[in-house]
Amino acid sequence: MDAIWTPIKEAGNLTDRIVVRIEELITNDQLSEGERLPAERDMARMLGVSRPALREAVKTLEARGRLVVRHGQGVFVRQDAPSAMRSRLANLELTLSELFAMREVLEGAAAGWAAESATESEIGELEDILHSMDAARVEPIDFSHVGRLDAEFHLRIVEMARNRFLSQMVGVLQEMLAAGMETTLAVPGRLGQSRHDHDALIDALRRHDAEAAREAAHRHIAGSRRAALERVRQGSDQLATNAPTGPGGPQWRTANGGAGPEGGPATNGRSRARSSKRT
Ligand SMILES: [Zn+2]
Repeated sequence: MDAIWTPIKEAGNLTDRIVVRIEELITNDQLSEGERLPAERDMARMLGVSRPALREAVKTLEARGRLVVRHGQGVFVRQDAPSAMRSRLANLELTLSELFAMREVLEGAAAGWAAESATESEIGELEDILHSMDAARVEPIDFSHVGRLDAEFHLRIVEMARNRFLSQMVGVLQEMLAAGMETTLAVPGRLGQSRHDHDALIDALRRHDAEAAREAAHRHIAGSRRAALERVRQGSDQLATNAPTGPGGPQWRTANGGAGPEGGPATNGRSRARSSKRT
């Protein structure tokens, strides 16, 4: 990490320059929350500044709530206040609820339409995907692989509904969920329950029973939603007991990648338009 401490060459008040540099390191995540800064004399040498100027800068950053000085231990990057974390978790809970509620509406409709027109070969494709999922259930389970298969399964059903707008809307929702969380299939018990739900869904499609297909889709997505929210709440509980050190609970992932949440990934490379708005 020493590579981030390079000499300060910018003109201007030295203490201000040091303050700006350290704030940048924190903002850019080159220094993480709770991380200890190097010893004063080392940091002064690496930055090419005097120790009094550095000490002054640390005082300013402490007053701004960016650093914490613990005597005898060193200077640390301040951790986010628990209240800020708690409100982030509450936001995450709300976002997840809203996204899953939309999936229930859209994928329920999709399952109903798919049931009306499902062909034998389409049902066969769905069964193939489920067989691949079964084959993937050997320890150690690669959950991102299983998540992708699950997503493919659900996307295939949406495509069977033969409505391009519906496919695109579901695609965007799933992409948002995938960007935000790991698959809920990793939650204990979900894999078995999912297999059961998927069977019920296929069964309804095969019988061209639109009502049963809608119900099966609703039940499945509602289960996935409960698992996702449960995981967020566990994060909140952890926060309540470990407030000073911060939670290890779930957080809204910013980088995309890996499998999506149960029932939807960001990518399957098929007929869906990709959202260009992803951040
Ligand atoms: Zn599923």
